[in-house]
Amino acid sequence: MDSNKRTAIVTGAARGIGREIAISFYKKGYNVVMNYAGNDKAAEETIRLCKESGDGNIISVKGDVSKEDTARALVDAAMNEFGAIDVVVNNAGITKDTLMAMMKTDDFDRVIDVNLKGAFLLTQKTLKPMMKKRYGRIINISSVVGVHGNAGQVNYAASKAGLIGMTKSIAKELAGRNITVNAVAPGMIATDMTDSLSDKTKDQIKSTIPAGRMGTPDDIANAVLFLADEKSGYITGQVLMVDGGMGM
Ligand code: NAD
Repeated sequence: MDSNKRTAIVTGAARGIGREIAISFYKKGYNVVMNYAGNDKAAEETIRLCKESGDGNIISVKGDVSKEDTARALVDAAMNEFGAIDVVVNNAGITKDTLMAMMKTDDFDRVIDVNLKGAFLLTQKTLKPMMKKRYGRIINISSVVGVHGNAGQVNYAASKAGLIGMTKSIAKELAGRNITVNAVAPGMIATDMTDSLSDKTKDQIKSTIPAGRMGTPDDIANAVLFLADEKSGYITGQVLMVDGGMGM
């Protein structure tokens, strides 16, 4: 147990943006509680990459973020192991894309459950320890699509727009308690999530990015670390677009 360090929970940290966020916190010396859905090997790889990169602590909790039990297990693990929760990053997310006319209700529900309800469940369970400590940084990973919408992503865009409304509402509830709540809205980031797009689609999207390139997980992790910093305490209820200018 190392209770002198700040403790951060990161969901969906077995790969992609979540993994990079976990590594970045670890590098900075945080205690990291990483959540992953089910891929033990990928989770072990995140832990290995952390351990070769810095001076933190890391534990993992397997579970589906849309289930209340997972939120409870994450909070219990953080409190039992490190005695505090300073930062929560709601990163876990999925897509189930298709045009509205063809979208199955189950696919709408599942995307909302993971991307939006998952963030609600974990955030709610971390409030008590954060309020008691009068300190907290909650960061929700939204999307440029949650601000601007996107054809073929009605469920995903609704979940990411919902996260923005939730971010601002919780920010208003908690601002007086030294707990900040912000969203990061990535643009087009090179991860497994975007890897399945055809080269033609990627080129089309790239042509709409003023920076002229896709983002990297590290671009997002930097923004998350900035918002998580103790010195960022006067920033709350904001949506930080990290998109190479795509959403201007
Ligand atoms: P990714 O698919 O590589 O990673 C998502 C992670 O979430 C995976 O590790 C996955 O196992 C985990 N996850 C999925 N369902 C889960 C569940 N029910 N419980 C626990 N974990 C679960 O995607 P990524 O690109 O790294 O995306 C990370 C976040 O960033 C997501 O919320 C995504 O919507 C958001 N985002 C990504 C992009 C992009 O271009 N890649 C753009 C905007 C927003």
